[in-house]
Amino acid sequence: MRIDIITCLPRLLDSPFSHSILKRAQDKGLVEVVVHDLRDYSTDKQKSVDDYAFGGGAGMVLSIEPIDGCISKLKGEREYDEVIYMSPDGELLDQKMANRLSIGGNMIILCGHYKGVDERVREHLITKEVSIGDYVLSGGELGAAVLADSIIRLIPGVLSDETSALTDTFQDNLVAPPVYTRPADYKGLIVPEILLSGHEKKINDWRYEQSVERTKERRPGLLDD
Ligand code: SAH
Repeated sequence: MRIDIITCLPRLLDSPFSHSILKRAQDKGLVEVVVHDLRDYSTDKQKSVDDYAFGGGAGMVLSIEPIDGCISKLKGEREYDEVIYMSPDGELLDQKMANRLSIGGNMIILCGHYKGVDERVREHLITKEVSIGDYVLSGGELGAAVLADSIIRLIPGVLSDETSALTDTFQDNLVAPPVYTRPADYKGLIVPEILLSGHEKKINDWRYEQSVERTKERRPGLLDD
């Protein structure tokens, strides 16, 4: 899978893809993440990528021309399943969406900034709009990193223990059970005994019960699905 991220602030995306699981996924050749600087597609001398909004009002709007230039170039080079625009009024990202996108093909993710992008981009160049939550960020970059992370960790082979993504919160509409590590007794705070028993079946049953109980307590809505 290849993920192309288009942004006017590429440096904001330096770090999230350069460490730990997301870096290893790229090193293993399981995913390719390529960040594109929108300014490279600007056609004017000042390398500007935005302009004032027609009709007035505060805030700049990202122009269609460099965005179209970048998307067209990428689409001329390979096939894409989705061209996604990060937007607070888009479809809310959840684990189901991440699962779906992780088994799909290449995608482009466009990050907005300032007041957003010219509406004609959204109408004609985008196939899907994604929000990471009901709040407004200053730019789409952090959202794009969240979306890409949620997808990449689900690509087979990315997590070293293949089953670990399957027992994460939201898979099977349950939240994850509690986890503990050594020491078993920390200043009198004791790890549940069952986990030290070595009895795999009993441990799995206990974890499942904990997941169900926690889901009822914390996210009862998940059990309706
Ligand atoms: N004026 C716009 C907000 C622009 S915020 C409005 O009121 O809808 C600037 C950019 O940040 C957006 O173009 C979008 O790409 C990104 N962004 C902001 N909040 C986001 C969210 N919750 N999810 C995904 N992207 C978001």
